[in-house]
Amino acid sequence: MRVWGQGLLAGLGVWSSLALAQVPAELLLADEERFISANAEFTLLHEMGHLLIHELQLPVLGREEDAADHLGLMGLFLLHGEHQREDLYLQLIDVADYWSLESSYAKERDQAIQAWDSHAMDDQRFYNIACLIYGSDPQNLDWVLEVTGLPDERSFYCDEEYRQVEHAVTWLTEHFRASSAEQGHRIQVEYGPLPVQLEGGEALLARIQASGLIEQVANRASDSFPLPRPVSLRLVTCGAPDAWYNRLQGELNLCYELIEHFRVLAAELPALRARRLQARGQ
Ligand SMILES: [Zn+2]
Repeated sequence: MRVWGQGLLAGLGVWSSLALAQVPAELLLADEERFISANAEFTLLHEMGHLLIHELQLPVLGREEDAADHLGLMGLFLLHGEHQREDLYLQLIDVADYWSLESSYAKERDQAIQAWDSHAMDDQRFYNIACLIYGSDPQNLDWVLEVTGLPDERSFYCDEEYRQVEHAVTWLTEHFRASSAEQGHRIQVEYGPLPVQLEGGEALLARIQASGLIEQVANRASDSFPLPRPVSLRLVTCGAPDAWYNRLQGELNLCYELIEHFRVLAAELPALRARRLQARGQ
């Protein structure tokens, strides 16, 4: 049975071989389904990071929210590296762009993240993620700088930032992964009732279940790490687009409304991408 630690080494090798020097302009156009699934997966992996930090008592240097973003992004590298999906980079840019779109959207709703919040501001999360994407293979990823606008002042050190995160994730997988003789508790997946007012909710639920994404993330974490108690991964109705890990209850909650919110923001993506293509003179 493969575990994250073993997958990391294989995944990083695949990552390098998949690197593209240039991305054709048409690939930078928006793909709504890809945007939604990439961001749902990143959100799940980010919250899984919180789950592992608390359930395994992982040491955390820096803010937990930043660590969860790092774990989420490295989780994407690993899962996609193993499956060798050719659109990995485009999915990663979709994740970065979500934070760019969310920044404008939240300001419109007067719900922008404040300086005192435990989360980095949306724009900072956009640049942090863009930096790690670029830093994973700077020789071949100049186009990431073009499409994200990450300035030289930050990009110069992105390879070091990526290597720090890679080192930390390698270390924790080696120290905390389950041995073959060790059996932890498994993460149980639960689907709660859909929001009553959510148009197309049944079709959304059918797509989520057909993708197998929720079970894949839960099973991978259960196989890889010895969890000391039963925990659950629940799709729930929240009344707002959100996701969180409840450390008291041992519940990872992903709201249906957040997946719907990704669909709403995906509609803004073509305009964002068009502006970038225009800026590139294409
Ligand atoms: Zn978080």
